[in-house]
Amino acid sequence: MTLTVLNPATEKPIAELDQAGVEETDEAVSRARAVSPAWRAVAPADRARLLRRLAALVEEHTEELARIESRNVGKPISGARGEVGMVAQVFHFYAGAVDKHYGSTIPVAGGVAGTFREPLGVVGLIVPWNFPLNIASWKIGPALACGNAVVLKPAELTPLSALRLAELALEAGIPEGVLNVLVGKGSVVGQRLIEHPDVAKIGFTGSTEVGRLVMQGAAGTIKRVTLELGGKSANVVFADADLERAAATAPYAVFDNAGQDCCARSRILVQRSAYDRFLELLVESTGKVVVGDPEEDATEMGPLVSAAHRELVASFVEDEPLFRGPAPDAPGFWYPCTLVEATNDDRIAREEVFGPVAAVIPFEDEAEAVRIANDTPYGLSGSIWTRDGARALRVARALETGVLSVNSNSSVRVQTPFGGFKQSGFGRELGMQALDGYSEVKSVFISTEEG
Ligand code: NDP
Repeated sequence: MTLTVLNPATEKPIAELDQAGVEETDEAVSRARAVSPAWRAVAPADRARLLRRLAALVEEHTEELARIESRNVGKPISGARGEVGMVAQVFHFYAGAVDKHYGSTIPVAGGVAGTFREPLGVVGLIVPWNFPLNIASWKIGPALACGNAVVLKPAELTPLSALRLAELALEAGIPEGVLNVLVGKGSVVGQRLIEHPDVAKIGFTGSTEVGRLVMQGAAGTIKRVTLELGGKSANVVFADADLERAAATAPYAVFDNAGQDCCARSRILVQRSAYDRFLELLVESTGKVVVGDPEEDATEMGPLVSAAHRELVASFVEDEPLFRGPAPDAPGFWYPCTLVEATNDDRIAREEVFGPVAAVIPFEDEAEAVRIANDTPYGLSGSIWTRDGARALRVARALETGVLSVNSNSSVRVQTPFGGFKQSGFGRELGMQALDGYSEVKSVFISTEEG
């Protein structure tokens, strides 16, 4: 069966691809399994060199990869260039980490005990459509660095950049079979990877619903899983904050990538005493977001990924919102930047919209801010805006979330661990911690007793 890939900004087809089924999935797993012993035996310095070459090739092909990503997801080209830059950084980071993921020696009686980090074997990676290449690299980088072979399933809507990356990996000299990309349905290819007895781990990013299926399916073969799921993060603005800066940046913390971001600070919590002033500033800054043709350098927000997704996003805004920005009246799955005044009990504040819609919620004091921010099944990211350093740290410790920023909305860095609390998932990506998710610890004891 073929798959038609669309450009969400034009609704026109940009590729026709063959789809893999169960048979092709099994073949890819066999290929990965066959090459796995040779790949894990590659000397660490050589594996690092191959990853460095891949990083360099990604850098050389930045414009091409960014154009592919922009056309396939509808994301603005300037943002797509930044994302490809991060992909290169990820491979550079894990190239450097290959020979720094140490075991340990442990004091015991009668000999020497130590630990080794062993690869898992074949890992299945299932990634979503919002940051297709970026999120794939967060998993491929540490997986290959640890000596695993990979079968990657990109989202059906956005398979193009992963296919190109697989070609670049071969060009870099990474042996055939080490990085396999399968275009196909989640319910077929994804499901088979989850159940396959020769797949040791599933690294998954996507919805909490499918995350549950991954956990259930993995139980059959006791697979390792890392789950990076949804979010409903809070942007907490205290009255003593630099309100101008907080309001100028808040739109980009929700409307970047058209809100299709698991880290989106889609609940904007504002202290009552500064509420009216902040709202005025927020409406002004939201009105400045440049929405339009993703291929234009100046564009800051493009369309949503699909017609079905736009329908879902629209279903969240029933009444007249506080503010609705402009959106092109043309083909493309457009939806405007939208601000809605809400309480934390409203559907818009409870469920992940995954679109350019923010709920603005007032709070009285620090205790209420923490209570509201934590009153969600999710716990992925968030921001705190205040000039009071002690309060910033107090609130940061109190929030049940994996990634936080103070007086900033940026939460993703190659060097720092990323992942969720509660139903936002478990396991950490990025940083040195990601290597723990792609290796097993082996303890070895060597007796020093005589005779
Ligand atoms: P999904 O969770 O459905 O998709 C993520 C990945 O999982 C895709 O590759 C998908 O494949 C695959 N998949 C789907 N069903 C199965 C299955 N039964 N077994 C194995 N793999 C499967 O997310 P969507 O893309 O549909 O987005 C829906 C919602 O999920 C969004 O509105 C948002 O709330 C959330 N989401 C969160 C993300 C995050 O970064 N945390 C990223 C993307 C979505 P296929 O493409 O074939 O469906």
